[in-house]
Amino acid sequence: MLEIKNLHVKLEEEDKQILKGVDLTVPAGEVHAIMGPNGSGKSTLSYVLSGRDGYEVTEGEASLNGEALLEMEPEERAAAGLFLAFQYPVEIPGVGNLTFLRTAVNAQRKARGEDELSAADFLKVVREKAKTLKIDGDMLKRPVNVGFSGGEKKRNEILQMAMLEPKMCILDETDSGLDVDAMRLVAEGVNALRSPDRSFLVITHYQRLLDHIKPDVVHIMSNGRIIKSGGPELALEVENNGYGDLLAEAN
Ligand code: ADP
Ligand code: MG
Ligand code: MG
Repeated sequence: MLEIKNLHVKLEEEDKQILKGVDLTVPAGEVHAIMGPNGSGKSTLSYVLSGRDGYEVTEGEASLNGEALLEMEPEERAAAGLFLAFQYPVEIPGVGNLTFLRTAVNAQRKARGEDELSAADFLKVVREKAKTLKIDGDMLKRPVNVGFSGGEKKRNEILQMAMLEPKMCILDETDSGLDVDAMRLVAEGVNALRSPDRSFLVITHYQRLLDHIKPDVVHIMSNGRIIKSGGPELALEVENNGYGDLLAEAN
């Protein structure tokens, strides 16, 4: 599904190398977690994969289902099945949530060469998915994220993800100070959307999130590289002992 080889990335504005050779493969149907100390480059990795401005790839490559990802425009990446959940969801005053979702879904269908969903079909799908995710109808009518609580924003993000039916979902939860309830919502959303042809890359600072999402593989990132990969027990090791031993081992 997602294959990253020897990825080196620097900031466009400064001569600062942030990713220093990331290798990562996430097969279809698997959930991989990335943990690591603050400043190790986890968010940068997700931004570069989604095509955000300000970063320059100096070496290496990334592909999604065999298609070269880094050469695509951000919209093309979304059409190819990539979804990035933002740490800080944007509020869009004046735009109803339903309108926003329908626009996003239809833009993606268009980019994939599919017909737009009719208003009736769209409503049917969105109501079904909202129900599965325990989102009430009221939230669908309000302006996007405006006045939403932290938990509602999280739910909404998961709904966006469910509507776009991505193949590869990247969730960066590192610095968002998730409380236990929000964490459970994210985990329930991911678990509800798990399927054999969909993969997840969950970036997190906290082992607690992984109590609810059982990852197939846990990667530890430090100083722009993946320094260790293992099973869920690796997250427990970090929880119990911190990063100190792992970092020392890698040097
Ligand atoms: P993490 O998500 O693991 O905490 P980040 O990817 O946010 O790490 O940051 C990695 C490093 O790159 C940090 O040292 C951070 O300060 C630096 N960095 C990232 N983006 C920028 C930027 N736009 N300008 C300056 N420094 C940046
Ligand atoms: Mg950070
Ligand atoms: Mg981060």
